[in-house]
Amino acid sequence: MHKPLLVANWKMNLGISASALLAKEIASHYKNNSSYDLWLAPSYTAIEATIKASASSGIKIGAQNVHWEKSGAFTGEISVAILQELGASFSLIGHSERRHIFYESDEMLAKRAECALNNNLTIIYCIGETLQERTENKTIQVLEQQLSPLINLIKKFTSKNIVIAYEPVWAIGTGKVATIEDIQIAHGFISKKVSDCTGEIVPRLLYGGSVTAENFQDIINLDVVDGALVGGASLSVEKFLPLMRICSV
Ligand code: PEP
Repeated sequence: MHKPLLVANWKMNLGISASALLAKEIASHYKNNSSYDLWLAPSYTAIEATIKASASSGIKIGAQNVHWEKSGAFTGEISVAILQELGASFSLIGHSERRHIFYESDEMLAKRAECALNNNLTIIYCIGETLQERTENKTIQVLEQQLSPLINLIKKFTSKNIVIAYEPVWAIGTGKVATIEDIQIAHGFISKKVSDCTGEIVPRLLYGGSVTAENFQDIINLDVVDGALVGGASLSVEKFLPLMRICSV
């Protein structure tokens, strides 16, 4: 069993002051709680302030994406070195909004992941099927395809700095949560596939998609779930604290 991990993805919300304020409140309720890990992913511009606001709490701060080159003509992108200079210790990679709104391919995501791992930046690699793919019974096929670059990276780097997030696209920000059975099947498949191919301990496996205080307990109770990646319910203390409480028991 892995130590539970709760990750907040603030997406393109909260400026510098609002992020710092929220991080400070969250940190005051976390206080180096050793029963679970807590990570926050604010906007790039708020990373430094969020780190300061949660200093000494044990909370890790990271980014929502990272580029694969050291530097150069990549307008709008950010490098591992710049993130590490800010103090970031992880990055999301392949969030469904990156895959579907910005058309980031598996190949591109593999490059992002490899560069991060090469430079000791932990990654949370997100995978998940669309509603159409699920309706066409292609969920497992899609997960297998999306996992493939990650499996090569686990073979090369081991799973030490890797977290996987299963996030069905149709459940993100929609209020529709995957059923316990859907989660069990998807997570069971991912764990088996990774351990069969790599012989490695499977990385922590998070569920993401409309997680709230109402559904989280049943999800985290599953043996195959190590925590959650949370969007909407991480944007206020009122909604996020109950998730922290569920993790801390
Ligand atoms: C996410 O952003 O990864 C996410 C799961 O969002 P939400 O919790 O709002 O569905």
